[in-house]
Amino acid sequence: MQIAIDGPAGSGKSTIAKIVANRLGFIYCDTGAMYRTATVMALRLGLKLDDEAAIMAHLKPLAITFKPTPEGQQVFMDGEEVTLAIREPETTNNVSQVAALPAVRAEMVQRQRDIAATHDIVMDGRDIGTTVLPDAEVKIFMVASVKARAQRRHEENVAKGIMTSVATLEQEIATRDHKDATRAVSPLQKAPDAIEIDSTNMTIAQEVDEILQLVAT
Ligand code: C5P
Repeated sequence: MQIAIDGPAGSGKSTIAKIVANRLGFIYCDTGAMYRTATVMALRLGLKLDDEAAIMAHLKPLAITFKPTPEGQQVFMDGEEVTLAIREPETTNNVSQVAALPAVRAEMVQRQRDIAATHDIVMDGRDIGTTVLPDAEVKIFMVASVKARAQRRHEENVAKGIMTSVATLEQEIATRDHKDATRAVSPLQKAPDAIEIDSTNMTIAQEVDEILQLVAT
């Protein structure tokens, strides 16, 4: 079974997707972490972020892997743990540019489909219901106010020792939303058959229950 969860930055997708996957015994795939890892690679190598050919030459052979742990999912780039590096502001502020490159998207979409082909899965991102898994049995589109999203990102960041003010996060989120929603290839979009959940005033338990009910019907 495939469950696709899409939505803008900080809408609570990954928190909810992880819990739903856990409850159902499915694997969880954080596609944003894959684009973030590609961005860390490009920044570290000093590549121009619009140089698609150079980025692809290094991305093709790059292994991006996940390891679930009780403390959360760890992310590895060619075996090196990059769980924290992919959340650094420098990565966050540049990821939309890398994710807008058509060849990068084609590569990631293929990898994501390969993972989904062999597992029951909960996958979250921006284009899962529309492009990656158009036949997913359950599609969710999560939204929340920019204020609520910035507040959540702030709390997540503080837990990881990253200190960015809520006001700055609000600005960053709004800018990233705009870039993700206006790019030429697979912009952030609600699939016509997705169910929209506005999590602004919902608890995590309520959101999880709503999705589990959709899965059961
Ligand atoms: O979900 P997260 O905020 O970690 O995603 C980081 C960035 O990766 C997004 O802002 C977007 O540019 C890109 N992304 C994407 N398609 C996905 C998942 C993420 O373009 N399926």
